[in-house]
Amino acid sequence: MKVIRTISELRSELKKRPFDALVGFVPTMGFLHAGHASLLHKAREECQIVVLSIFVNPTQFGPNEDFDKYPRNEERDLAIAKEAGADIVFFPQVEEIYPRPSKTEVIVSDITTKLCGASRPGHFAGVTLVVSKLFNIVQPDKAYFGMKDAQQVAVITQMVNDLNMPVEIVPCPILREEDGLAMSSRNVYLSSEQRNEALVLSRTLMETKQWLITDAPNLVSDIRERITNQISASPLAEIDYVEVLSYPALETVERLDDQESESLIIALAVKFGATRLIDNVIISIKGN
Ligand code: AMP
Repeated sequence: MKVIRTISELRSELKKRPFDALVGFVPTMGFLHAGHASLLHKAREECQIVVLSIFVNPTQFGPNEDFDKYPRNEERDLAIAKEAGADIVFFPQVEEIYPRPSKTEVIVSDITTKLCGASRPGHFAGVTLVVSKLFNIVQPDKAYFGMKDAQQVAVITQMVNDLNMPVEIVPCPILREEDGLAMSSRNVYLSSEQRNEALVLSRTLMETKQWLITDAPNLVSDIRERITNQISASPLAEIDYVEVLSYPALETVERLDDQESESLIIALAVKFGATRLIDNVIISIKGN
């Protein structure tokens, strides 16, 4: 496994590959866990060259967010990356990616204004800018993204399709701890009490999914109310949003029986202390 810190070195390394070798790319912000490793495993299965990037991207953090204290651990990350089968780890400094302020913006409209886009203004503009830059740097055939960030998958897929970027976006399932908590680098911020209370997210999502199958409620307002009540019962939970939208279009849905698209997303963002967690489930409503 090679650790590369500059764009020029990465480009010359990738030039050496056989012309028919598929390049699989897993962009991350590091502090790796089994969720990240699952993306690397999938890339390893499908591609001859697996590139992992570790870059805490300042442009996707708001001024009062956790950029400075985002967890970092290079040594541990490199061990996990090696174990999971990465060939190349691209580990640039901020100045390598942003040697000057970017005057170019990459903006996906509409779907970036919902969910996390509403709570975190500018977040997706930072994501689409850095992912475009990384795609131009790595030029992957396939790029692997976790459904933990389902809106990000929708936004990146839209960007790639709209701009004819020659890369296939591969969505990968959410990896969870044994007790159901969605794996996240930010889970380390949680106290043991907060972590325990945070289980309400996955528990509510799984129960709601089951309830939709057994009781077939029709009004989305009822679904939201039930979820909101369940989460609010946890004294440490402060709800940012509870949404039920079509997926991947992220359109408002009022009734399930006049729903055009085949999938819904139930998406949650909830703060426990200063730590904001997100989780979601995708529900197939036609013929599930
Ligand atoms: P991050 O380092 O948080 O920016 O995440 C990098 C990639 O890993 C993104 O595509 C995430 O969606 C994905 N990811 C993060 N957590 C998980 C998880 N629990 N299961 C699957 N993928 C994940």
